[in-house]
Amino acid sequence: MGKFSFEHRFEIDTLKRLIAQHQELFRHQSLAELYFRGEKLSVTAIELGQQQQSCPTVLFVGGVHGVERIGAQVILAFLDSLLNRLPWDTHLQQLLKHVRLAFVPVVNPAGFLRGSRGNANNVDLMRNAPIDSDEDVTFLVGGQRISPRLPWYRGKNGMELETQALVKYVQQLQQESSSVIVLDAHSGFGLLDHVWFPHAHTRQPFNDIGYIYHLMQLFEKGYPHHGHYRLAPQSHFYRTHGDIWDYLVASNTTKKPFIPLTLEMGSWAWVRKNPRQLLSFPGYFNPQKNHRHQRILRRHVVLMQFLVDAAYAQIVEQIKPTQLSQLTHQANRFWSKKSK
Ligand SMILES: [Zn+2]
Repeated sequence: MGKFSFEHRFEIDTLKRLIAQHQELFRHQSLAELYFRGEKLSVTAIELGQQQQSCPTVLFVGGVHGVERIGAQVILAFLDSLLNRLPWDTHLQQLLKHVRLAFVPVVNPAGFLRGSRGNANNVDLMRNAPIDSDEDVTFLVGGQRISPRLPWYRGKNGMELETQALVKYVQQLQQESSSVIVLDAHSGFGLLDHVWFPHAHTRQPFNDIGYIYHLMQLFEKGYPHHGHYRLAPQSHFYRTHGDIWDYLVASNTTKKPFIPLTLEMGSWAWVRKNPRQLLSFPGYFNPQKNHRHQRILRRHVVLMQFLVDAAYAQIVEQIKPTQLSQLTHQANRFWSKKSK
């Protein structure tokens, strides 16, 4: 304790506080134990809702990159809101009889304490899964094995403990669920909020793209004033090696829908308004003015609640094979036009 500044501990401590305050409302488990500079850290998963029967699951992930603290904060704020609503919100209580909500808010706790994108070995967990691109990847950013001193290091000894823990947990959810939707929250450069879906390692279209197209249509119709997301395959922007979600798509043998979405919240807007952030690398990816912080914490609630409601309505499960092939066709046309 006290070895790291309060600021760097904030998300880890918030997660501990939520567990201490509300543990009668959920199940929690440690997916991996890590030792960093003499301190025991864990990769913690929290689950609410149905656990006996196969049901739709929505998984919220944050903190894969230790400098992108706002991603973990958005996930923790949504979890906190659900836990505070649960005692009185009969709609939510009913929903949780039929849906599993899972949270891994801080995948990379050592990265948070170090203030680094990578983990304690400086491995970039989102470049660390055993999947390679055979197309041109962006130099360094796409993942490199030159040196752990450079960013986007893929690691040399297979999957890191944190990567293994997340992969194993998601594979277990794939087995136990009728569908799995994931929202993995990051922050990065740019003015826009992007939502990426596979693939990251290839331009080849993702098999479950029809489900994503359908969810996009429902979201746009249901929430026409929340259209600030740019939704596209990640490979339209840049290609990478070692993407965890691509690996979990490729290794999914269940034939059940698996829909991983990566929310990449735009940060340049804040940098432009608050150039002081350029001086602090972690600040790059985190809004520092309080009103902006509040705004970003509420900005994505509608999307997160939509995914939960779509799971409860079994939107994905109810799509018939003929409808799915039509949707897949439309989706491929839509995104191939966009990429030109
Ligand atoms: Zn990230």
